[in-house]
Amino acid sequence: MRIDIASLLRPHLRQLQPYTSARDEYSGSEGVFLDANENPFGSSTSQDFNRYPDPYQTALKQEIAKIKGANPAQIFLGNGSDEAIDLLFRAFCNPGQDNVILLPPTYGMYGVSAAINGVEVRNVPLTPDFQLQPEKILSAVNAHSKILFLCSPNNPSGNAVKREDILFLLENFPGIVVVDEAYIDFSEGASLLTVLDQHPNLLVMQTLSKAWGLASLRLGMAFASPELIRVLNQIKPPYNISGLTQETVLSALQNKGKVDEFIQLILEERKFLQKELERLPYILRVHNSDANFLLVQFEHPNQVYEDLVKEKIIVRNRSSVLHCAGCLRITVGTREESIALLQALEKVCQS
Ligand SMILES: *Cc1c(COP(=O)(O)O)cnc(C)c1O
Repeated sequence: MRIDIASLLRPHLRQLQPYTSARDEYSGSEGVFLDANENPFGSSTSQDFNRYPDPYQTALKQEIAKIKGANPAQIFLGNGSDEAIDLLFRAFCNPGQDNVILLPPTYGMYGVSAAINGVEVRNVPLTPDFQLQPEKILSAVNAHSKILFLCSPNNPSGNAVKREDILFLLENFPGIVVVDEAYIDFSEGASLLTVLDQHPNLLVMQTLSKAWGLASLRLGMAFASPELIRVLNQIKPPYNISGLTQETVLSALQNKGKVDEFIQLILEERKFLQKELERLPYILRVHNSDANFLLVQFEHPNQVYEDLVKEKIIVRNRSSVLHCAGCLRITVGTREESIALLQALEKVCQS
């Protein structure tokens, strides 16, 4: 939908004068730098960290743009995906007035961020087979609906939602449509990045925490129209990505081949684990997955969960979540880890 980002923005932000850091005012790399009150002698570590990092992560965005086929002006980088989620609330949602639409069961952080920011949540459940209900979503919308969060492949169900439903919502939802693609690397379906240029209200989130194996570095990526990215840049903390993260990720991005190998391995192990789990008589259902985890339905999930913990196997109990009765969410591990899980299940479910 052709929405006007500026008119969606909270009124007090339209006039905002953002903080200008020393590195905003002068961004050259040569010179005697006496502008940022840094320590000129070096760091208390073997590697030097005494200079403030690039506030806009220019080098990093150039490399990510190449890999993702986007333009650097369409990229925002945050301290995990959670930072982009929080900034979206702060940019567009007036507390006590506006609302966002969530589609449970889904990632918990959208609701937590809404609560922190004092913003109403309108829940429109997925169908029991975890697909969108586009017409119901649109009937939950009012003049104060600012953001629709959808997650595909979805957590905790693991499935990708129908692309035509997402495209329909992009055409018809009168606010920002966030598509969280944290698990896109494990899916056969195409990313929504392919339609980014056509939809100024689309924001696609991806992360380096899963397939890239960099969860500890905290780097979340958001892709959107340059206009929307400018808004996030204006309200973010100036140095939100540390220099250590920027440097480490820049070198990790050279290892795309390694990531493709990880993805192949995880897909093979997912197939192995699903097949083995489906053979076990006390497992009622293994949901098909487009992600790096399986949602698995048991007759006595709480008991199985507790007994697995005693065997030092930790999974996620999702059995109290909508449409997930009986279900544990199990991350795909190495072959050794899957065998340990299967052996532990044999033990705890026989007894
Ligand atoms: C894991 C996950 C993320 C990634 O979060 P980071 O903060 O980038 O580590 C985002 N969305 C969903 C749905 C996830 O499951």
